[in-house]
Amino acid sequence: MQINFYRVRIPFLRPFTTSFGTENYREALLFRLVHDGIEAYSEAVTSPIPDYGYEDNATAMHIIGDFAAKYISDLPDPSVFMERARGIKGHNMAKAALEMLLWDYHSKVNDQPLYRYIGKSRGYANVGISIGMAKIEEMLEQIEKAVSMGYKRIKIKIARGREGLVREVRDAFPDIPLSVDANGDYTPSDMPRLKDLDRYDLEYIEQPFPGDDLIYHSRLKKEISTPVCLDESITSADKARKAFDIGAADVINIKPGRIGGFTESLKVAEIARENGGHVWVGGMLETGIGRAFNIAFASLDLVDYPGDTSPNEKYFSRDIVKNPFRMKNGIIEPYHDPGIGVRIDEESLLRYLVDAGTISV
Ligand SMILES: [Mg+2]
Repeated sequence: MQINFYRVRIPFLRPFTTSFGTENYREALLFRLVHDGIEAYSEAVTSPIPDYGYEDNATAMHIIGDFAAKYISDLPDPSVFMERARGIKGHNMAKAALEMLLWDYHSKVNDQPLYRYIGKSRGYANVGISIGMAKIEEMLEQIEKAVSMGYKRIKIKIARGREGLVREVRDAFPDIPLSVDANGDYTPSDMPRLKDLDRYDLEYIEQPFPGDDLIYHSRLKKEISTPVCLDESITSADKARKAFDIGAADVINIKPGRIGGFTESLKVAEIARENGGHVWVGGMLETGIGRAFNIAFASLDLVDYPGDTSPNEKYFSRDIVKNPFRMKNGIIEPYHDPGIGVRIDEESLLRYLVDAGTISV
């Protein structure tokens, strides 16, 4: 059997700035397998630079091509694949790309839409939006538009020393559900700066400290009344359990790619529920393929907060799927066709293609 891979580079409509830096395009790795007339797809959430985590597109290709792909040669159940891949330490994003390829494949074999195949679903995802740092006028304009479009939560990226953005946004929009995401930019000596954010009535502060931390988040949580949300820090169900055990989190941003796929993400969501926590589904600026997985997961009953699954028209002028998701009144419904339900726009794929090849398994 063969897996096809495609590396595509899709320009953003506007540059996206976080505390890591500015990105002008999304360079995505897409995977496709065809077996017995069934065509399955997935996307790695890595990017060209190891900034969000240690993985990048090159490490993902190495792990998949040289080690992990052979474990899917008989198209096992996703949980069986994860068991086989346990010997490969870390590299969750690479593993998730294969694990999710299997979810799409098996839901199609079972003739079921992915969102129903994975678990109990409410049938739609509640949608929030993530706004990158920019000039304040530009951010306010984007927020105003997002609010009028019905987004259920506005999140702004912040960085150490840029807390003034939060004041400006809160002054302009006193009543919107607002959260902030620092992508790990703060240090323990910044506790006072973070405590100061309590005055803005935020839904939560996301990942103030670096991605390997739980301890400082737990200390912060004792000091502030704003809930603490973990993103980068939660890379497994075990990490989620530890976070709740030591009181380091109220909320978890589940990115199936970061956590190693749906099998492990489902466990994280269940652990949060058992501990009275909340979860939502984040995004990695995926193409329509990765987004279809996120929306399916975000529609689960276990996911109780609005996520960052805004439609791609916000980010790209043209997606690589023919039927990109559209939001209506703050919700997106997954497609009812079997599997992820999106159809590939071959012309668009060719237009953005940088590299392609096959992996034999
Ligand atoms: Mg985040």
